[in-house]
Amino acid sequence: MNASTASYLNETPIQQQRISHTDVAIVGAGVVGLTLACALRNSGLTVTIVEVNSRAKTIARDRAYAFSLMSARIFQQLGLWEQVGPYITHFQRVRMSDADYGKTVNFYPTDSPAAAVCYGAEHHVLLGALQGLATNIHRLTLYYETTLVDVQATSTGTQLTLERDGQRQILHTRLLVGADGARSTIRDYAGIQTSGWAYWQSCITTVLAPARSHQNTAYERFWPSGPFAILPLPGNRCQVVWTAPHEEAKALLALPEHEFMAELRRRYGNDMGELQMLRPPMMFPVRLMQSHRYVQPGIALVGDAAHCCHPVGGQGLNMGIRDAAALAKILQTAHTRRESIGDIRVLKRYERWRRTENWLILAMTDLLNRVFSNRLLPLVWLRRTGLWLIEHTIPLKRMILRVMTGFFGRQPIV
Ligand SMILES: Cc1cc2nc3c(=O)[nH]c(=O)nc-3n(C[C@H](O)[C@H](O)[C@H](O)COP(=O)(O)OP(=O)(O)OC[C@H]3O[C@@H](n4cnc5c(N)ncnc54)[C@H](O)[C@@H]3O)c2cc1C
Repeated sequence: MNASTASYLNETPIQQQRISHTDVAIVGAGVVGLTLACALRNSGLTVTIVEVNSRAKTIARDRAYAFSLMSARIFQQLGLWEQVGPYITHFQRVRMSDADYGKTVNFYPTDSPAAAVCYGAEHHVLLGALQGLATNIHRLTLYYETTLVDVQATSTGTQLTLERDGQRQILHTRLLVGADGARSTIRDYAGIQTSGWAYWQSCITTVLAPARSHQNTAYERFWPSGPFAILPLPGNRCQVVWTAPHEEAKALLALPEHEFMAELRRRYGNDMGELQMLRPPMMFPVRLMQSHRYVQPGIALVGDAAHCCHPVGGQGLNMGIRDAAALAKILQTAHTRRESIGDIRVLKRYERWRRTENWLILAMTDLLNRVFSNRLLPLVWLRRTGLWLIEHTIPLKRMILRVMTGFFGRQPIV
């Protein structure tokens, strides 16, 4: 870390600071960080999670995700399905359409390798289940409300200086994992560069209660200004994920509620009758980012710390969950074979596994957004022909669904 922090630290005699050791230190107790910690439950490795926020604050995030079949399978393998399955929606249909063009593509469970096309899961359900499991893993230590003050490389791994309840503490780790989100401190500390861009769009989210049943149907409507998704949630609620150019998104957010709802209805359609807004709309930046490396000696990145994508298709968290499961598998195997878990040759196995697969998803979400978010006539013709082709070619439809639900490439078992 920077020189002024280092000199300040030198004023605190190291003997007065508590010193502890762990095999794996994970920075960030979001869904991805906790999935990794839980997936290491039988590895024989000691794991410590460092989270800057309180447990209550991390769970309070107001977001619902399209939760893929592969993510669901990983949660089943972790033994979490009883806590999660009944509290999420099991999509019985996903309907894709191009603006108000009448021909749609419909995905049903019969096209899918499971009893649903996808799931709709709220953040608190996923994180609550993981937090419950994590507190029962005896080799796992959780530090909430803990600030990472300093990071130093040592001959055996990394030394973290932490501050909790006004006390400094030293944690030595053989492997440091950055699961600390898009603005990752660990990625910065490691000097790992990224490539990507900010989109011309922002994303608006809100939660609605429709008058009629949502029938567990999800919608992805591509408007020229950006994709507009509706995810069915338990209790006949719907999460809206609406992307629009920055200025338009800002103007929408500034509208009084009845005008905002009128704009929303124009894009939403009438399938579910009257709509009531349950949560005030929020706006998020949208960007694509891929780290040049996911690993270096003694360090690995997972989830948004390693990559971010456009929300179209609901892929970001699902990619992160697969990263976590893959890294856990690699580390467990290495530990069983008595290899060093911080060794770059071990960590490169994880990078080779995940980075190319994630590239494919980043490219696909980018292409979807660019092809549909415009009014160019040749592209309009091309994409509408494409939708017709997908709807009428079952093997193509099934192949697309496999990619979108994570059932492609090497599949992690945790
Ligand atoms: C509007 C919107 C809709 C989305 N919809 C979907 C969807 O439908 N499906 C999907 O798969 N994805 C979706 N995503 C993407 C998804 O939200 C992210 O990919 C996912 O939350 C990343 O999880 P993470 O655990 O890697 O990072 P985060 O959720 O950002 O968690 C990082 C954790 O690290 C902690 N932290 C950060 N810095 C530090 C530090 N220095 N020290 C200690 N702790 C730290 C944070 O407090 C946090 O708890 C959506 C994103 C947006 C914006």
